[in-house]
Amino acid sequence: MKKRFFKLFFLIFLSFICLSCVSEIDPISGEKTYTLLSTEEEIRIGHKVIPSAINENDGLYPDREIQNYIKEMGNKIAKVTPRKVDYQFYVVNSSQINAFALPGGPVFVTRGLLLKMDKESELAGVLAHELGHINARHHAKFLEKTYGMNMLLGILGIALQDSKYASAVMSLAQISAGLLQLKFSRDQENEADSLGVRFSYDSGYDPKGLLTMFEKFKAMERGGTVEWLSTHPLPDTRIKNVQQIISEKYPHSSSLIQDSERFRAIKAKIISTKDSYDYVEKAKKYIKSRNYNEALSLLDKAIEIYGSNYAYTYRALVNLNLNKYNNAISDADKAIQLDSLYFKPFLIKGIALTKIGKWRESIVSLNKAKQLIPDNADLYYYLGVDYHEIGDRKNAIEHLSTALNLTDGKRGWEADAQRRLIMLKKY
Ligand SMILES: [Zn+2]
Repeated sequence: MKKRFFKLFFLIFLSFICLSCVSEIDPISGEKTYTLLSTEEEIRIGHKVIPSAINENDGLYPDREIQNYIKEMGNKIAKVTPRKVDYQFYVVNSSQINAFALPGGPVFVTRGLLLKMDKESELAGVLAHELGHINARHHAKFLEKTYGMNMLLGILGIALQDSKYASAVMSLAQISAGLLQLKFSRDQENEADSLGVRFSYDSGYDPKGLLTMFEKFKAMERGGTVEWLSTHPLPDTRIKNVQQIISEKYPHSSSLIQDSERFRAIKAKIISTKDSYDYVEKAKKYIKSRNYNEALSLLDKAIEIYGSNYAYTYRALVNLNLNKYNNAISDADKAIQLDSLYFKPFLIKGIALTKIGKWRESIVSLNKAKQLIPDNADLYYYLGVDYHEIGDRKNAIEHLSTALNLTDGKRGWEADAQRRLIMLKKY
């Protein structure tokens, strides 16, 4: 025991030494700088948060051609940026008008934002802006400032792949939430804008694309529907800054790429699935008010038009709430087939399997969910129940305890988890 403690202490001490003295070349200024978070650690944290970002944005858009397009576009722009990290590009199903990045490379664009774009240079501008945040280490600076020493424990837990430790799970939950609601400062936005203009231009796109996108956001702002503005504030001064940079540094940009045949084809494809997605959006409102039968008929219509992972996931959820467990399982399976990085269907399938007493199958599905997002309270509760039912006392205690640590107190199963824990600890 003493030895183990000593080993853990030594590991923490070591990681402190290593992390606190990382010296790196600042990608923007080219000067040597000291950072708390190494690029490698930054990339690792970003990777860990990808499934949460996908889950909170309704899964990946299930069309390979569109995913490939955004990857090619993104990589073409990333190539001209000075920072070498693990760039990744995804289109998510969300109807919100948004784009965001994670530390160390991942960039996300919503289906809702693509619907508002009219030409390729606008997409290039938004991607280049997000790459600006990554290149200027804005996420890393946020992590260093917000979590500091506390983060080291979390990183250690993540690095050791030992999410059993409640403290590591809690740190990851905190870091994910912090990163997904991250709001940059005005200075950081200006920096990302000026880098965005530069990266657009250097990769051959008309940097005015970012400007026309900003003007559209501004026009839509009154309706309060642009999610992007809640994390990237857009005062008039910002638009003026971008105008100024373009007219001073890149006055002759009209010969650059404005649009492409491919962009128009991609856009047409996304428009063709809009009706289906709109039905799911309406169904979600009925789900909120527990009007499950109304929701079900809308989801049936959505799937008839376009069978997306998003529609199947919500139909699985409705079936779960209607106690139609076998239907829930088959819908969840269809969603998983379309997108194996989407957490929600694995969770719904696991819960449905618990409900019909298929404990071991449930454990398989919930453990897959846990590999994606290891900080969900419901997941730990149902895993705890499964382990309890098959007589695995150690795992049952561990998972039920973590569930109670993670819960907001309103999940509805807290009393049962406590009752089971008392029973388990008796023997
Ligand atoms: Zn921004």
